[in-house]
Amino acid sequence: MSFEELVATEHAYHMNVYGRQPVAFVRGEGVRLWDTEGREYLDFLSGIAVVSVGHSHPKVVEAVRDQIGRLTHVSNLYYTEPQVLLAQRLHDLLGWGKVFFANSGAEANECALKLARRWGRRDGAERTGVVAVLGSFHGRTFTTLAATGQPAKHAPFAPLPGWFRYVELDDIAALDRAIDDGTSAVLLEVIQGEGGVRASSPEFIGAARRLCNERAAALVFDEVQTGLGRTGRWFGFQHYDVLPDIVTLAKALGAGLPIGACVAREEVADAFKPGDHATTFGGGPVVCAAALAVLEVIEQEDLVQNAERMGTHLVEGLQKATASDPGVTEVRGTGLLCAVQLDGDRAADVVTAARDRGLIVNNVTPSAIRLAPPLTVTEVEIERAVALLADALAAVRERPGG
Ligand SMILES: *Cc1c(COP(=O)(O)O)cnc(C)c1O
Repeated sequence: MSFEELVATEHAYHMNVYGRQPVAFVRGEGVRLWDTEGREYLDFLSGIAVVSVGHSHPKVVEAVRDQIGRLTHVSNLYYTEPQVLLAQRLHDLLGWGKVFFANSGAEANECALKLARRWGRRDGAERTGVVAVLGSFHGRTFTTLAATGQPAKHAPFAPLPGWFRYVELDDIAALDRAIDDGTSAVLLEVIQGEGGVRASSPEFIGAARRLCNERAAALVFDEVQTGLGRTGRWFGFQHYDVLPDIVTLAKALGAGLPIGACVAREEVADAFKPGDHATTFGGGPVVCAAALAVLEVIEQEDLVQNAERMGTHLVEGLQKATASDPGVTEVRGTGLLCAVQLDGDRAADVVTAARDRGLIVNNVTPSAIRLAPPLTVTEVEIERAVALLADALAAVRERPGG
């Protein structure tokens, strides 16, 4: 199919929900992608922080091939070894917790909120509310959309579940007012991803922990984007001196295969009884084999440390390259989750200009460009990406009205 045919066929037969970039990829390897026209790109988005070990990592490919050829699916009516091993592995990484496997980030968050509701009734109390943060992103199901603190996304689908309250990021007084004896959970991203790579203050995260303890609510960290090495720690919350009751994971876990996980400390996890929650596909042998391989690669190749080192390199490189650009107001990031903040809504134009130069990034907000390369990225690749992005920024700036 030619690229033009592909686009026309998509428009005819796929629902029109994605504002897609005019490119179709056919192959990936490491930090590189190739499109239908044979053009090569540096991938500094990783499929939105998903392909953390790089495209088609040989160890992941081998694990998936091996498992799919032996056993693909039997349902959760039965035990399967990859699922059990992966649950144990996540427990060992955190040092605590029991796991439920879902198929996506949204589903992992659904599990977390259902579990918090169940745990909230542990002593005959009626804790049903959830406090979330403005600017957050938690998914697209009705409940995770309600949890997502972006009113513009709510409007077309109202009415949404009404048991959510929202506070501004880092507003401790508002958090204190919002959490009460009817609160089952406080749900937040320690670093907001879709919100534009915005890190919470340590004081805010500390206050969330203290208030949840005082008012018997569960503290839930959505680490769907920040988890598993992205920020230069295994978990984003390890930048803060705070432990959650529940943590959700997804994006990076399967390196592109659909898997999510909700991990809760044992006492909380045990609030679920048989029949309370389930999934047909979740935790299947193939995705769990992939995830086991992903975690092994991250560990063996020291990718958490690489993310920290390369992240520093990327932010410093971008700061240096944009120092004399008056349109860039900030370069921020933790590990390999970074954003370049512009003083106006030109991020989409910069993304296009970068793509024309062979660099994949995305406009996470109208005025911010997100960079989230695979954790395997090298210094040479970072230097190349910084040069390409600086060139793209300059090209957009020099346009009339740019
Ligand atoms: C992407 C994302 C989600 C939703 O994950 P899906 O797999 O798209 O359902 C939830 N929370 C955060 C923080 C995310 O970045």
